[in-house]
Amino acid sequence: SVIETTPSLTSINSYYEKSQYLDSNGVKTPRQMIGAALNERVENIDYDVCEPGDEDAFFVADLGEVYRQHMRWKKNLPRVKPFYAVKCNPDPQVLRLLSELGTGFDCASKAEIEQVLKTGVDPSRIIYAQPCKTNSYVRYAKKHEVKQMTFDNADELHKIKQLFPDAELFLRLFTDDSSSLCQLSMKFGASMDSANDLLALAKALNLNVVGVSFHVGSGASDPLAFMKAVRDARTVFDKAADHGYTLRTLDVGGGFVPETFDAMAAVLNEALDQYMPAHVNIIGEPGRYYVSKAFTLACNIIARRTIEDPITMEKRYMVYLNDGLYGNFSSIMFDHQHPIAHVLRSRNHGFYDKADARPTLAGTEYSIWGPTCDGIDRISESIRFNHELDVGDWLYFEDMGAYTKCSATRFNGFTDAHDVIYVASEAGARALMGMK
Ligand code: PLP
Repeated sequence: SVIETTPSLTSINSYYEKSQYLDSNGVKTPRQMIGAALNERVENIDYDVCEPGDEDAFFVADLGEVYRQHMRWKKNLPRVKPFYAVKCNPDPQVLRLLSELGTGFDCASKAEIEQVLKTGVDPSRIIYAQPCKTNSYVRYAKKHEVKQMTFDNADELHKIKQLFPDAELFLRLFTDDSSSLCQLSMKFGASMDSANDLLALAKALNLNVVGVSFHVGSGASDPLAFMKAVRDARTVFDKAADHGYTLRTLDVGGGFVPETFDAMAAVLNEALDQYMPAHVNIIGEPGRYYVSKAFTLACNIIARRTIEDPITMEKRYMVYLNDGLYGNFSSIMFDHQHPIAHVLRSRNHGFYDKADARPTLAGTEYSIWGPTCDGIDRISESIRFNHELDVGDWLYFEDMGAYTKCSATRFNGFTDAHDVIYVASEAGARALMGMK
């Protein structure tokens, strides 16, 4: 099945053997497709004459991976309609594919709403899931008939009353997100104690509350957080009925990660069965679940510093890449990630290194740095490879699709607009996208 062929993108050694690009059925595996795209790009750069920017870092995005994640979602969470969290990676082709697949979209700003609308998505497939919104953005949402939006406090209700009284409102609840990668409840979410007063106020203002939302934290790891949040949501559904509201939708937010998705989905399904009757619509706002594994980043080594141990004379190196913490590795700062370098190209060992691309326990030691002047711009403190890396060589990093490109800056004048080469390792994705 589609699900069972999902690759574990931990090693792409077979990149280096062109004869291995086809599997036993004569079909490229996802990893081989990504590898071919990476190699083709770096092969075509002539370092002696290339223009500034030709050797910039670049992504290879496998839209087939996004497609497989969608099929996996449908299989494991059939009741929950995904509204992709655009903030995670607003890549235009990802949005186009998801739009073709029929998902909804969770937007946090006017720019995200505009981008999704321009993709051709109907406004009813958008939720403006930001409980504290900019006034002019609310007016923009009204003008473009993006009716669904969240709130979690009384001031926001007054704002919505003034700017968009017909909006369809979701009361966002506080959750226990203490075991998640990025906690959100310190900033957003109404407590269970305040839910009653907020519903009373919404009623007094004659506003249209249609549902409840929550977010158990981005990169959630405790499935029971979903159980408790759905139970709390049910309590609010019942309270809302006391105020004369018949709530119709529960939004279970995001937080899912590919590695633990099946277990999380099982608990969530159980919670939904227990607390939410069949007539209640369920939506979710997955972000990283869809894209984290779909993007691979390739970076060029632009400089190297040799450090020799004065006693053992052993050499180690600091290598400087053309991308770093202020660029696509912003995920190290903002998303607590630890991207692992692999060797894509090492000229000292032949054009393509046929040895192990993965880090090793022994071998030459490197620290890996970004290109800016800031000392915190370090990607890896210590990593070893079986070969000597030098200027012009390439490294690649897997799982770079979530909260990377979208939070990159132009600090020091480096670009934040890196090329993306698209491949699609699923026939279904190729058909939808018109790709060969
Ligand atoms: N929905 C909201 C309101 C969020 O704030 C976020 C992330 O911050 C998401 C969805 C997506 O979360 P994730 O990428 O963990 O699925």
